[in-house]
This record gives sequence, structure tokens and C-alpha cells, in this order.
Amino acid sequence: MKSPLIPIDIVSIYKNRLGDPLPLPTRMAQCTPDMHTAIFNIATDLAKKGGKLILSDLFRSYDMQSQSHNDFVSGKKKAFSPPAGGSFHEAGRAFDLDLSAIKIPLADFWTIASKYGVNPIVAQPKPNQSEAWHFDCRGSHQIVYQYYTDKKGTNFKPYTAAAASGILSIGIHVDTFGANQKQAAIQSCLIRLGKTIGNIDGQIGKNSHKAIDELGVLFDMNNIDGMLIQLENLVQHKFPNEFIAPSV
Ligand SMILES: [Zn+2]
Repeated sequence: MKSPLIPIDIVSIYKNRLGDPLPLPTRMAQCTPDMHTAIFNIATDLAKKGGKLILSDLFRSYDMQSQSHNDFVSGKKKAFSPPAGGSFHEAGRAFDLDLSAIKIPLADFWTIASKYGVNPIVAQPKPNQSEAWHFDCRGSHQIVYQYYTDKKGTNFKPYTAAAASGILSIGIHVDTFGANQKQAAIQSCLIRLGKTIGNIDGQIGKNSHKAIDELGVLFDMNNIDGMLIQLENLVQHKFPNEFIAPSV
């Protein structure tokens, strides 16, 4: 199966007319199961130190990410926002938080978040820096990030490759792959299963073929759906916390 997006109930920066804080709006309040677990663990640890995890953004649909990017290009929004297909927000694996609510030094928040596999996008814990509020839970897509960092894939920057992998894994379209969404999703699975197959480009070549054979999946280009499901099941077996909704 695909990694699911599940709803999450979390307080946001948005307020009602009386000024009471509202939960994050439903369209944004979705994430992968491992992100769900991480958010609650971080919120719990932060609460023990007197801070609050208050979000301004979490999941973005294709349209929401396109809008965000257009706003950046037009100057309406100052902070950089990549085109659709390149943000972990679209994978349900990134949040933006209210830095004024954490009540601890940002560096200390980094330590807490990192314990749960959630990491910043900026290099240093400077709260005034753009994107200091953005955190990713890369999960198994960190393997894709490392793969591209190691130059085993060269058609994307590591971050874009990992984000695209995350988006494909929840079954959302990534423009770059055109009509070959499933083939690209197969390649994302193969890399996360430890195989070296060249680029994630939607073109199943001999390296992907060999990797599929090695994993014991029947190679059949007339059954892309079947190959993808079997590979997704292997990924699920290797990274169960990205698939199982927490019971809380
Ligand atoms: Zn963000």
C-alpha cells in the first residue's frame, strides 16, 4: 500500500473572532503516521519545558504548493517556496511552527525534534533566519537524500529528490515524471530498499530490472501496478512506522 496521510488534531496560529486559538485547518492537518507520532512526542517534550508546539502549516496539496510558489515568485510571500513536486509539505512530512511559542532556545528545540527524526532545513539555529520555522520528517526518504548526496543519482538536488520520493510514496502526482508516475514510484521504493539504480526518472532500465529481480518481485513491464504494490509492501515491511496509524 501507499504510505497514508492521516488527520491530526493540533493547535495552530489561527484564531477565531474571539481570539481563541483554532486547530490547524483540516486541509492542512494531515501527515504521515511517523510524522504524526513525532509531532506528538515533540509537543509532549516541549510542554514539559513550558513551551507549546503551535503550527502554521503542515500538509500542502499540489494546488496549495503551486500557490505558495507563485506567491513567492510574485513577491507576495517573502520566504522561498519551491514549485509543486519539491517540498516535504506535499508529502505530509514538513511543518512550520510558531517560533515565539516554543519558549526555549531554538537550539534546544532542535535537540528535541531530532530525537524524533524531525530536523530543520536551515544550517544554524538562528530564529530570525528565513525558514528557521520549517522542519522535515524525512523518514525512509532520507535514504534517497543520501543516495543523491553520494551522486548515485544526479538528475535532482538531494533535497528535491527526497521530497519527490516522499510525494510519490503517498500517491500524489509529481509533474517531472509525466506519464511515468508509477515507474518513478517503483524507483523510489528500490532506492529505499537499498538498491542502486541510477536516477529516479520514471524510466525503468536494466539496473531497476536487476534490482526488482534481486528483491524477488516478478519483473513484468505489463504489470507496473503489480510490481509497485509488491515493492510498496517490501517498503512497508522495512519501515512499518510510516504506514501504521498510531493508536492515540
Ligand atoms: Zn515550511
